[in-house]
Amino acid sequence: MSSLDDLYKEIILDHYRSPRNQGELPPPAHRCEGFNALCGDEIIVYVSLIDEKIEDIKIGGQGCSISQASASMMTEIIKGKSVTEAAEIIHAFKEMMDIYESELSGKEAESSASGIDLGDLEALQGVVKYPVRIKCATLAWNTLTQSIDEIQG
Ligand code: ZN
Repeated sequence: MSSLDDLYKEIILDHYRSPRNQGELPPPAHRCEGFNALCGDEIIVYVSLIDEKIEDIKIGGQGCSISQASASMMTEIIKGKSVTEAAEIIHAFKEMMDIYESELSGKEAESSASGIDLGDLEALQGVVKYPVRIKCATLAWNTLTQSIDEIQG
């Protein structure tokens, strides 16, 4: 295993052991649950959206290290962002995961045009070695997307 893989593993384990923004937000914060039946991961996203801005976000639930670490990292990068900025970050993250998928299937990876610095989240690209794990990594993100849709719907 390369030292970069070791670094990525450390970042993920750090978020898994010491999750950021863990807990609940009281109403009127929005609560949304997501499940990944393939792995048994459960994520509960609490979002406090005020004037198109994600004022606060908290995460509950349980699951594998990838799902929980991804949720923890997501709260760090999403908290305080506008809905528009959040949508861009969500897109950039999913693009990163899709690029990995297309590499696996032998297609040429598309270059990322988003230019968004995903920080610690790039560690997930290093460990999502199997397509099935992508569902773990994207669970919190899909739940957040659903949450924002429900709030704005
Ligand atoms: Zn999982």
